Amino acid sequence: MKTMTTTCLGRKPKVGMISLGCAKNLVDAEIMLGSVLQRGMEITSQPEDADILVINTCAFIDSAKEESIEAILEAHQQRGLNRRPDQKLIVSGCMSQRFAKELRREMPEVDAFIGLDQVGQLGEIAEKILRERPTLNAQDRQLDVERSALGVSSTNGDIDLSFAERRPTYIPDYDTPRFRLTPAHFAYVKIAEGCNHPCSFCVIPQMRGKHRSRPMQSVLAEIRGLVSEGVREINLISQDTTYYGMDLWPAKAGPRQPVDSTRGPTLAVLLRELQEIEGEFWVRLLYTHPAHWSDELIETIAQCDKVARYIDIPLQHIDDAMLGRMRRETSRAHIENLIHKLRAGIPGVTLRTTFIVGFPGETEAEFARLLDFIRRSRFERLGIFKYSQEEGSRAAKMPGQIPAKIKNARYRAAMSVQQQIAHDLTLEKVGSDLKLLVDQPHIARSEGDAPDVDARVILSEAAPVGEFVWRRITGSRGYDLLA
Ligand code: SF4
Repeated sequence: MKTMTTTCLGRKPKVGMISLGCAKNLVDAEIMLGSVLQRGMEITSQPEDADILVINTCAFIDSAKEESIEAILEAHQQRGLNRRPDQKLIVSGCMSQRFAKELRREMPEVDAFIGLDQVGQLGEIAEKILRERPTLNAQDRQLDVERSALGVSSTNGDIDLSFAERRPTYIPDYDTPRFRLTPAHFAYVKIAEGCNHPCSFCVIPQMRGKHRSRPMQSVLAEIRGLVSEGVREINLISQDTTYYGMDLWPAKAGPRQPVDSTRGPTLAVLLRELQEIEGEFWVRLLYTHPAHWSDELIETIAQCDKVARYIDIPLQHIDDAMLGRMRRETSRAHIENLIHKLRAGIPGVTLRTTFIVGFPGETEAEFARLLDFIRRSRFERLGIFKYSQEEGSRAAKMPGQIPAKIKNARYRAAMSVQQQIAHDLTLEKVGSDLKLLVDQPHIARSEGDAPDVDARVILSEAAPVGEFVWRRITGSRGYDLLA
């Protein structure tokens, strides 16, 4: 139900959003803003104009947490400098979900911490805050925190504005109101949420909960709508895209279950359905777990020309002992066989992966095996993460934590190997004709480049934004191509 909100401001309140972290968090931000619009409020891109400013945080690794905390403190400082003491500050996202209690104690300047289950309710929560905490100052906020710790009612009314409670279960639907923050021609579509894998370095399942897939009809309805609005690129996202649908099967799917459409809904069925949607667009697969790939999925991608020949497949390591300690539920033999099958089954495919260096106990020999694998596999796109010791993860308690100096050296060694590979691969493209999607008049992306994370094609002649064009590649500059 749409309600018109004016509250005590005497006009429509304005809500601003600063979203940090990955595309999954961005979709949450879009849903939060959708709920704000549905309640009749306005959205502003100027934080200083906002009556309510939301910081959508990331807690993937320590540096992401630090960035999130800095963003909150900066926003609080700015509301003082901009003489907006009544501006309300809401913190959402992974960090808020996981550390709401601790953060609330440490940061009384924040008006509410909301969890991942509340993303569709930001509009209501914002109204509640404006109604019940209209003129709260910093001292009152501190009092609130102290009183709530003692179980006493808060300063402005008796609401407890710390909303994150338990492991989330929320999943959006096709008609969930959403205000897209990406350019008009591409969109992220979250097909599932949560993860059932036990990777020892990762705390995401603790924050985002168990894997839960959206019903296929819901995903299809959303994508049909986006394509009819003129969206040219659909990026399918989740924590574990290849596991899509398996939690809906009548018989439970194990942690290494390959995609098999005889057993229930799968990513392969979804892709075949998407292929039938009228219109010119690309579908891109992000965050696929290697354990679930099957011949059926590879054949499906090869047969569906609307599915980009691009696969994001985080591998994290190649050494069997390391994969075991990382609890990746996969093995060197499986990964090598899979890469061979992907390259043979989908000619011209662009493979993107990530590896972690400096995981606890990684020996020189294990790292050397990883380096050798990177050299031989010639991934078109590759990211290296230095292992980050995440509180609450199994790996954080493991013996053999690697000093930062060694992690840095391994990072540099892996990056320099990859730089040479990437340089050679871009040169191989020179002279070829590529279909490109135009992001800005002089900047486009090929099928092999996901938005924000991969390379670009610099256009010498301007092209219409949001359209597909064909161009001949004339050279390269760093990781980018020239056309
Ligand atoms: S697959 Fe592993 S790394 Fe990825 S979200 Fe799940 S637990 Fe974390």
